[in-house]
Amino acid sequence: RLVPAGLAAGLAFAAAILLLARRQMSIAAALRYALRHDEFFVVYQPLVNLQTGRLVGAEALLRMRRGTGELIGPDLFIPIAEENGLVGKLTERLLSLIARDIGMFLSEHPDFHIAVNIAAADLHSENLPSMLDDFLARSHAGPRNLVIEITERAFVDPDLARRTIARLRERGIEVAIDDFGTGYSSLSQLESLDLDLLKIDRAFIQSIGTGAPTSQVVGYIIAMAQRIGLRMVAEGIETEEQASFMREHGVDVAQGWLFGRPMAFDALEREYLARQAEIAER
Ligand code: C2E
Ligand code: MG
Ligand code: MG
Ligand code: MG
Repeated sequence: RLVPAGLAAGLAFAAAILLLARRQMSIAAALRYALRHDEFFVVYQPLVNLQTGRLVGAEALLRMRRGTGELIGPDLFIPIAEENGLVGKLTERLLSLIARDIGMFLSEHPDFHIAVNIAAADLHSENLPSMLDDFLARSHAGPRNLVIEITERAFVDPDLARRTIARLRERGIEVAIDDFGTGYSSLSQLESLDLDLLKIDRAFIQSIGTGAPTSQVVGYIIAMAQRIGLRMVAEGIETEEQASFMREHGVDVAQGWLFGRPMAFDALEREYLARQAEIAER
């Protein structure tokens, strides 16, 4: 044998790591390039009131389209932006794209809200509140038109997070905990964070009606949220069965392919008007 088996495996592992590192480096470079060359755009996914059918808001989701036409999703580029200190720049870009998209829409529909995802680095940054103030000043949005979504896993430093959340809420901006159930928040932590909304992770929604143990957890999470006064949003609703489950459990707002995929803002406006017309006809 030329190379001992252990060493060979080690070399293969090192090669795999190198490959991964190179791919990540090329995405980091692509991110910097995309920031300079406007390769980002935003799509909006409808948030629907389960009782009335009204479109009450939309979640803004960032997309990157490279010059080659290749579409890169946030699940891939957000973690790499986080590792390369690019999160603040991305969030700034996101907000200016939203400001451009919404135009006068929010001044004409004051109850409508846009949900914006922020990453851990934003949550722990001193700049976030002033970045949002800038956004509000530049756009036709008021604080009530904005919801900030923070994934449960982003709460690295709960005390710092709590201070940022307080600064958002004192401006009248609502704060949601996103992908709830994928991290390790306890009930008491959740209570002390002083949030407005809770979005249960899609994984729990998918278990509804399957008889799996996690399907029972959905009921517990809803009851817990109601007890501590958090409003709920169900994400990843794909079937009528999942929607009725949420409706029956008193969850008011839902999002998912059943109601609409992420779309361009003008398509969202048309969807809003279509739903209003449908409600008026009833
Ligand atoms: P999220 O905030 O939980 O967003 C929901 C994700 O679920 C979106 O994926 C959406 O397209 C997808 N989704 C919605 N309804 C359904 C459904 O019925 N079925 C299925 N299978 N999927 C559904 P997307 O756009 O790929 O975003 C992935 C995650 O990336 C987001 O999860 C969010 O955490 C993060 N993200 C997206 N945009 C941004 C951004 O602008 N900034 C930051 N910091 N994070 C972002
Ligand atoms: Mg979200
Ligand atoms: Mg989510
Ligand atoms: Mg999610």
